[in-house]
Amino acid sequence: MTELAYTEPKPKIIAGATGDWELVIGLEVHAQIASNSKLFSGASTKFGAEPNSNVSLVDAAMPGMLPVINEYCVEQAVRTGLGLKAKINLFSRFDRKNYFYPDLPQGYQISQLYHPIVGEGEVLVDMEPGVARRVRIERIHMEQDAGKSVHDMDPEMSFVDFNRTGVALMEIVSRPDIRGPEEAAEFVRKLRQILRYLGTCDGNMQEGSMRADVNVSVCKAGTYEKFRVADDFSILGTRCEIKNMNSMRFIVQAIDYEAKRQIAILEDGGEINQETRLYDPVKGETRSMRSKEEAHDYRYFPCPDLLPLEIEQAWVDDIQAGLPELPDAKKARFVSDFGMTEYDAGVLTADVTSASYFEKVAAGRDGKMAANWVINELFGRLNKEGHAITESPVSAAQLGGIIDLIGSDAISGKIAKELFEIVWNEGGDPAEIVETRGMKQVTDTGAIETAVDEIFAANPDKVAAAKEKPNMAGWFVGQVMKATGGKANPKAVNEIIRKKLG
Ligand code: ADP
Ligand code: MG
Repeated sequence: MTELAYTEPKPKIIAGATGDWELVIGLEVHAQIASNSKLFSGASTKFGAEPNSNVSLVDAAMPGMLPVINEYCVEQAVRTGLGLKAKINLFSRFDRKNYFYPDLPQGYQISQLYHPIVGEGEVLVDMEPGVARRVRIERIHMEQDAGKSVHDMDPEMSFVDFNRTGVALMEIVSRPDIRGPEEAAEFVRKLRQILRYLGTCDGNMQEGSMRADVNVSVCKAGTYEKFRVADDFSILGTRCEIKNMNSMRFIVQAIDYEAKRQIAILEDGGEINQETRLYDPVKGETRSMRSKEEAHDYRYFPCPDLLPLEIEQAWVDDIQAGLPELPDAKKARFVSDFGMTEYDAGVLTADVTSASYFEKVAAGRDGKMAANWVINELFGRLNKEGHAITESPVSAAQLGGIIDLIGSDAISGKIAKELFEIVWNEGGDPAEIVETRGMKQVTDTGAIETAVDEIFAANPDKVAAAKEKPNMAGWFVGQVMKATGGKANPKAVNEIIRKKLG
């Protein structure tokens, strides 16, 4: 089993004056390839360097400089394609996309329009346990990133920083299978999770390592199903593209706004202009950047500086063999091997580090108990302190040790929480701490009986009452636990009290 059973979510419906409307959404995600050097030069890709310090002669487009393809970047693109169960094209080719902009010294971007390296694949977008949307991937191509214009450093001049110029990007294009704002955000989240598992992109949206262009159209309910059957885009409404989104929250807000804007125009008898828009998070609205008429003619043609890229199936097979276990498969395995809920498995497989921490804790132990401790105690505590799992003061071996002590009845669950606190704050070996601090549970029935007898002797009226009403026994359990500093085995205490009450 590599995938859990699921059903597709209902599409989002927006009720209008003229009937129900549906959203149709397709994303183009730009993901920076995790690589130390650029796509066609040896310059560093390090984020946050001094402006224009990571620029080679190729990146600066000096006359006579020739691009040389970075094999590692190609491998990462292939890995990504395989991770998205996509077709890998053994033949691909680079094209020049021509346009003029100050942050583009070549005067063109090298991209792959006609023959991308990766063809059709898919992403399973989890919405809630048992509910997921299968979103088809149309293609992935490699291309160069542009530089950055800086307009706010001087009142009269603009500057350019070419550090990012030529950095390798993958453009991952979905089919228009996303049916609501939350689905779009979850699509990006799932994609980021898979890329991070693969190690092909760090997924850091704040640093711009991942950003999405969001295409949105609306249509009357039922239209999308017709599109799926006929695969004819003219059935769908006209789309607008919201550029450069780098936050899940803004993606949701922008789509919400954009869908309502389009519906209002259509219901008013108007038409949607195909255009590129920008989302303004302060105003919470999208606004037009350029219409289709103003769109550039990029005059694409095959880049004469680069040979077509031909790779071998054997190389692709090697990369496939080296793929790690990916989120869907890991989640399904956690559910079946450890008997945990899909929800818990989702939490534990959110990232590779958490998953492997859990697996170390669970090895040779009760899986459900391990999951419970990792999620509720450890993750709960880490969240509260704002720590990542990599900064956990409690190691997997230590947490496993605590669970072993519960399993062997050496400590109760309540004492285990105190022990967790001690290990969190002071470190140390759990078994040793329990020994030296006298935290061991009292299972010696003789000692418990003595404590029970003393409490019975001091409270004869309560004993009489409890003999009438057996559910009052709980009060005695509490008293015995208090008298023994919480160390008495609660099960033994319960049994002895019930026996003595008759
Ligand atoms: P371009 O590269 O010019 O933006 P594409 O045809 O490659 O155009 O489409 C880009 C994205 O727009 C894809 O993700 C595609 O699924 C999506 N898309 C295309 N038509 C629609 C539509 N009518 N509504 C929503 N999304 C669409
Ligand atoms: Mg586009």
